[in-house]
Amino acid sequence: MRFIDFLERLLLRRKEESSQPLRIINNPVGVVVAKTIEPYDIDHMYDDPDKMPGLCPVCHYTIEKIPNLDYHTATTKDIAMTYDGFFIVRDRFKRFCDEQGYENLTFIPLNKSSKHYYFMPNDIFPIDVKHTIIEHAGKQCPQCGRYQWVGTGGHTLFSNCHFGSEEDFIMRLNILMGDRNQKFDTIIVGLKTAELMKQYDLKGFDYRDVQFLG
Ligand SMILES: [Zn+2]
Repeated sequence: MRFIDFLERLLLRRKEESSQPLRIINNPVGVVVAKTIEPYDIDHMYDDPDKMPGLCPVCHYTIEKIPNLDYHTATTKDIAMTYDGFFIVRDRFKRFCDEQGYENLTFIPLNKSSKHYYFMPNDIFPIDVKHTIIEHAGKQCPQCGRYQWVGTGGHTLFSNCHFGSEEDFIMRLNILMGDRNQKFDTIIVGLKTAELMKQYDLKGFDYRDVQFLG
């Protein structure tokens, strides 16, 4: 290829790339009132996703999360999430919750991992449905009405309540996000709770802001 042709192609490619619509996320900015827990991934709970329970029989997207209690992990993270969307916590995390006296939390011990539990908060966080953007992609199942993919697409989660800095709770969203049969719940904690978790030295996960717009 002549050098000049090479340059022309390079320039053309640059032009094509720059003409692609740039996705700009323009989140309104409110007050931080809570935090999501952002765990890191650990191995799949189900080796064979076709044998995973809790899926719609037509589309095979997640309807409910039903854990495999024979799952084995040796993770040192205090809260982790399997690639297929199940929360696993260590005994330290359970001890923290017991000491603080949080209610409506599910801990189920794993048969083959003596220090680990399947975990799920049961109280539902009051999300601001007017301002929170939830995106859907792919086909919608005619049977269950669920979409292949659900997510915030990088948009902020907004709260319906103006929680103060002394609020202490562990809840979850009532929206399963993610892809197909790997969908997952989202844990949201109070600002005080996040501080207490840091003081207790709970580690292996991140936090993300949840805001209130008023
Ligand atoms: Zn379905």
